[in-house]
Amino acid sequence: MPDSILEEIFVKRSQQKKKTSPLNFKERLFVLTQDKISYYDYDAEKGKRKGLKGYVDTEKIKCVEIVLPEDSAPPDRLYPFQIIYDEGPLYVFAKSDQIRKQWINELKNVVRFNKDLIQKYHPCFWEDGIWKCCQQEVKQAMGCRVLETKNGGSNKDGGFLVRDSGRFTGKYTVSVFTKAGGETAGSCRHYNICVTTEGQFYLAEKHNFSSIPELINYHQHNAAGLVSRLKYIVSDRARNAPCTAGLGYGSWEIDPRQLTFIRELGNGQFGVVKYGKWQGRHDVAIKMVKEGSMSEDDFIEEAKVMMKLCHGNLVQLYGVCTKQRPIYIVTEYLANGCLLNYLRDVLQHPSSILLLEMCKDVSEGMAYLEANQYIHRDLAARNCLVDSNGTIKVTDFGLSRYVLDDEYTSSVGSKFPVRWSPPEVLLYCKFSSKSDIWAFGVLMWEVYTLGRMPYDRWNNTEIVEKITAGHRLYRPQLANDKVYSIMNNCWHERPDERPTFMDLVMTIKDLLFNM
Ligand code: ADP
Ligand code: MG
Repeated sequence: MPDSILEEIFVKRSQQKKKTSPLNFKERLFVLTQDKISYYDYDAEKGKRKGLKGYVDTEKIKCVEIVLPEDSAPPDRLYPFQIIYDEGPLYVFAKSDQIRKQWINELKNVVRFNKDLIQKYHPCFWEDGIWKCCQQEVKQAMGCRVLETKNGGSNKDGGFLVRDSGRFTGKYTVSVFTKAGGETAGSCRHYNICVTTEGQFYLAEKHNFSSIPELINYHQHNAAGLVSRLKYIVSDRARNAPCTAGLGYGSWEIDPRQLTFIRELGNGQFGVVKYGKWQGRHDVAIKMVKEGSMSEDDFIEEAKVMMKLCHGNLVQLYGVCTKQRPIYIVTEYLANGCLLNYLRDVLQHPSSILLLEMCKDVSEGMAYLEANQYIHRDLAARNCLVDSNGTIKVTDFGLSRYVLDDEYTSSVGSKFPVRWSPPEVLLYCKFSSKSDIWAFGVLMWEVYTLGRMPYDRWNNTEIVEKITAGHRLYRPQLANDKVYSIMNNCWHERPDERPTFMDLVMTIKDLLFNM
């Protein structure tokens, strides 16, 4: 018999392979070896292993994670975890958090080179035909939460994030992930940002700063009392990422028969965009890609990457239908449509807090792209959408690379976003996160002018001349000096003098905090 790595008695939940089969919970002896996790009936009195009840091949495991316990769970079911493999989740309940941690760590170690590991999982149980976390009714529905270990930096020593502990409560927390103390799995430490009576900010020890960005910047270089210096930014919104409607784990192909078209939303570079339902229940937007408008094969490859980008301020790509023509791009649907129209037609007498909140939303989505080294290339108010709560989400990231239309792709073409482009793009087509920063400054200007056209008195040729000569957009009436200086910083001629999105998030939060 192969060597066992771990043995333990767990409570195992029946797998409910049919919707109607009753749930039951039985004690089983679990044995983990390199190849299998097997469970046996056993004789509690004699402490002896009896007949084999079932097993899972470790190479088929796609994910091992904790599960949130049931409401009013009995004492022997407080520490559940899930082993997801091709037949769905196997739910197991450990006696203590410590044993659960030990098993999860060991299992993750055994499966770490498996080829079908997934990036998303369901944090709650599948029960009676429904996922308790996201209410999806398809057992194979892709997970609705991103695994933290896949979330750039969060499993690395020094991964950190800054959270506002609730809108306008004025409290901020810095969470740092650390592997210090020899823990293989690592742990998270949380530090509240404290404020002195003079309005100075500090973290662990009294190294005071007049703003939160300065404080973060300092601790990016100095641990100064923290378990680690702040090394990698981690997105705090990815965890609340919307559910992906893709069919089955890791799949980006959506069955077009499960789409219903309800009404037209608009017309774009790739043709008609429609609002509809997936599986009759989930709201979706469907781009029907006009033939000849996109280099499709390249896009389909890229879609696999885009699927993995999940953030509360990015419009989620759900999947693509590529087995027919025209191909469809299926994304999250945002009820309030395009930000530019929203600014122009919907907003009336917006408060300065609201306008800055909108900029904050965009900066957070962009900071996530920046952290993932993903360049948008066409950031502008027309490429942001507004959801039913007024949250702004960035869309169409990276898409411009697949447009087949010289008027759009050539920097001298009539559809090229000249008004959102920095000198190095206009002159040398040099795109980077810093050219996205420039565009963000222009987007802020659009927000504060409630959707005016930038440089509306000039044509594209004039703009190139003026911009390269150092001319910049004026201060919108609704923008105070502090807000205007944020925009202006995005328009430094030299890219390396512009802030990062991470800087912008901090500066904007800081400003909101003091409003
Ligand atoms: P393209 O990127 O092909 O140029 P757009 O994304 O600009 O097309 O879409 C055209 C219009 O359709 C937008 O202005 C917007 O009003 C609407 N639209 C696009 N995507 C969505 C969505 N996900 N939710 C709601 N409305 C959308
Ligand atoms: Mg667009």
